[in-house]
Amino acid sequence: MQVLCSCPSCLRTVREEVGPATTQLKCQHCAWVRPVDEGDRVAPTKCLLCGCDDLWRQKDFPQKLGVAMVALGALLSTIAIAYYLPVVAISILLGFAAVDMILYAVMRDVLVCYRCQARYRNVPGMAERAHFNLETAERYRQEAARLQPGKPA
Ligand SMILES: [Zn+2]
Ligand SMILES: [Zn+2]
Repeated sequence: MQVLCSCPSCLRTVREEVGPATTQLKCQHCAWVRPVDEGDRVAPTKCLLCGCDDLWRQKDFPQKLGVAMVALGALLSTIAIAYYLPVVAISILLGFAAVDMILYAVMRDVLVCYRCQARYRNVPGMAERAHFNLETAERYRQEAARLQPGKPA
């Protein structure tokens, strides 16, 4: 699996491949290392960074791309309406919706840590993992607020 997170020490992006032989997760930019438990090398039972037991499953869809697509679809259809082309405007919107649906269908799932937002790609048995739960997220948000007042989680 691939781990994508921000280094707890230097805050830069860490992208590491973790497999059965990986004994530690390390940062490519600084000296930060963390041992990886044997049971967590293929499919993490907890977050490899912070040890948090709660991971949620979501589509590995870049949020910025989704927002950009919606904005582009809205812009193009507005232009079409301005030129009195309502059929074109609707076609554009439907086209973008279709692309969105296709992308959603082909996108793979990723596991995300509630506490530190580390992401885990290519995890086997992904279908059994839980989806995002707002209550759990709220619990971690409050915990983060208590531990580090004034600092973003
Ligand atoms: Zn680092
Ligand atoms: Zn974590």
